[in-house]
Amino acid sequence: MSKPNKHESKHESKRGSKRCVEAQCLPILQHKATLTKLVKDNVFLVVTGETGSGKTTQLPQYLFEAGLWKGGIIGITQPRRVAAITVAQRVSQEMHFTLGKEVGYQVRFDDCTSQATVVKYMTDGCLLREILADPGLSQYSVVILDEAHERSLNTDILLGLLKKTLLQADKGSKDGSVRQRVVVMSATLETDKLSTFLGHCPVFTIPGRTFPVTSRFGNAIGPKEVDSSRYVNEVVRVALDVHVSEVAGDILVFLTGQSEIEKACDMLYEKAESIDYRYDVQDQTVEGLLILPLYGSMPTDQQRQIFQAPPSGIRKCVVATNIAATSLTINGIKYIVDSGFVKQLNHNSRVGMDILEVVPISKSEAQQRAGRAGRTSAGKCFRIYSNEFWEKCMLDYTVPEIQRASLTSVVLTLKCLGVHDVIRFPYLDHPEERLLLEALKQLYQFDAIDRRGQVTQLGRLIMEFPLHPGLTRALLKAASYGCEEILLPLAAMLSVENIFIRPGHPEKQKEADKKHRNLAAQSGGMNDFATLLSVFQWCKASDSPSAWCKENWIHWRALKSAFSIETQLREILLRLQQKKDFPVETFTGNKSELFRRCLCTGYFTNVARRSIGKIFSTMDGHGTAVHVHPSSSLFDQEAELDWVIFHDMMVTSRVYLRTVCPIRYDWVKDLLPKLHEVDAYELSNIAREEVNEEELAKLESKEAKRQKEGLDEDTA
Ligand code: ADP
Ligand code: MG
Repeated sequence: MSKPNKHESKHESKRGSKRCVEAQCLPILQHKATLTKLVKDNVFLVVTGETGSGKTTQLPQYLFEAGLWKGGIIGITQPRRVAAITVAQRVSQEMHFTLGKEVGYQVRFDDCTSQATVVKYMTDGCLLREILADPGLSQYSVVILDEAHERSLNTDILLGLLKKTLLQADKGSKDGSVRQRVVVMSATLETDKLSTFLGHCPVFTIPGRTFPVTSRFGNAIGPKEVDSSRYVNEVVRVALDVHVSEVAGDILVFLTGQSEIEKACDMLYEKAESIDYRYDVQDQTVEGLLILPLYGSMPTDQQRQIFQAPPSGIRKCVVATNIAATSLTINGIKYIVDSGFVKQLNHNSRVGMDILEVVPISKSEAQQRAGRAGRTSAGKCFRIYSNEFWEKCMLDYTVPEIQRASLTSVVLTLKCLGVHDVIRFPYLDHPEERLLLEALKQLYQFDAIDRRGQVTQLGRLIMEFPLHPGLTRALLKAASYGCEEILLPLAAMLSVENIFIRPGHPEKQKEADKKHRNLAAQSGGMNDFATLLSVFQWCKASDSPSAWCKENWIHWRALKSAFSIETQLREILLRLQQKKDFPVETFTGNKSELFRRCLCTGYFTNVARRSIGKIFSTMDGHGTAVHVHPSSSLFDQEAELDWVIFHDMMVTSRVYLRTVCPIRYDWVKDLLPKLHEVDAYELSNIAREEVNEEELAKLESKEAKRQKEGLDEDTA
């Protein structure tokens, strides 16, 4: 009986040839000529088709073959970084190119392209940043906005921006020839809306073949329960049940994130061990279970295994996040086990911040998940939630990110691009005005825009960094004191996923907890930001960083990314520091104070003060009652605290502060009034007024003069 090891890797050598055959029977192939011509002839084109029909991997290749690359790069955006990387790898193989040469990818903090790159997969965030440097995207002959149905914030903004620029350029073109094109690809049929938005552009639908999928509700999750351990246990139970009682065919399980997925895989692995294939399993051709996790921050060599066919007799069981719903298609899936939940970044109005939350998926999302079982034959979908849950807890459609997340970075980007009236920007779906106002207000608080809604010098500096504006501001403050050494590593550490390993086993958990507490104590204690900084420095200085991580229960992979991110941030900073108007200040005082004071300049929006006992109250006007999270080194030390700043919050039945450090009221005293100083309407009204360029120039020179004279805006 063969029970493959879960890290086993197979069929490496056969891959190339097999895949090319696969590509030849994808539904898109028959439409190669038509699609190529449509792209050539139109400024805008919408392409739709079932997931797995070959849009993402094939269309760019067709355009390459048609020679479109001669006029510039063929760029394809993806909302998710893993998708950008995986697909680029796949396409470079299909085309027999080395990854990073003709075919490459670029995601935040990881650029795998070169001068030779003509087919470039990237995240939508990367393209948005490129537009800042080159509003016309002059390097590109075609921009493909992929996965538009996901309605990611960045893709939505790109849609609006490209509509604005290209429609204008098209009107201006005399000979009617098309120089630049935009293709919008979507898996769902919301295409009329897209086409109308893009000036009634043509829509091409790739006819798909799908097989029926029967869906069945369970009864483990009803409208009341939303406990992660409950649905993790249940998906494991159902997946094993499918394995023993259903005929051959692979299983795809949907969960919400890395820790759940790892937990489920461990449980599955353990339980699959005890299956007796002679008696327990219905289908006698099934001889083993291959369990594979799939989530965003997973190493890519492990991801590759997901796509390979399992050895004969072995059933593959992939436990994935929502990434497997549309971005990545795994062949051979016949069974879906759906937890009914997804992790989503939502603006939480209770606490006034963006928070990653586990929420029920929408009905359309559930249908999309189920559909993954019917690509090659009839399939089955096992929903662990009840029909009542479906009726009462699940929305019909997923709310686009632009209508639920903070727009701070986006508004700053738009402003830097000269879009002053962010309220009347052409959005595919208009975000709530409240969210736009909040973004304007936050930018004003960070001094990234001034009272007239214009981007300040600081705002332009902030824009240079692919980080949250507050964190960037803290970094720039430290740099102005010449102390970037302390903030650069910290910013890098805050940009990677959780660095602390949390083993599933209770004994090991104790051991890990102890190590983590030691690290915190050695770094001075009572400051989670300082702990992150110290971990970075100690690990970097050790003889064998990977061994050091292992010893201390730290994710080595996360640290490795932090090292690389720090280098990249340093490069950006060095470039900016060479400009002569880079701010310079002096500071007298000790290093710990300097560190925390710099943090205050970026985190004064996240200040809390202890009220009674262990309860803190936020100072942003919401006055939310919050607690220090047990993972913080300040936990159980609350009595000694008065004022704190924090990096983020976690909302369960309580609101918890994670990554916390104590501060003195003095340090934020002058900053806090800024939180309430200006009415967001004031900022937006100015933006709404038609901007008269001449007036603006006059105002700007006045403003400059005023700043030089050091006068207060109000008294001048
Ligand atoms: P669409 O974009 O229309 O959803 P794709 O182009 O992503 O379709 O997928 C087409 C085919 O390519 C699918 O059969 C999928 O399994 C396969 N495929 C995509 N990426 C990989 C990969 N990294 N390894 C192996 N097969 C892949
Ligand atoms: Mg795709």
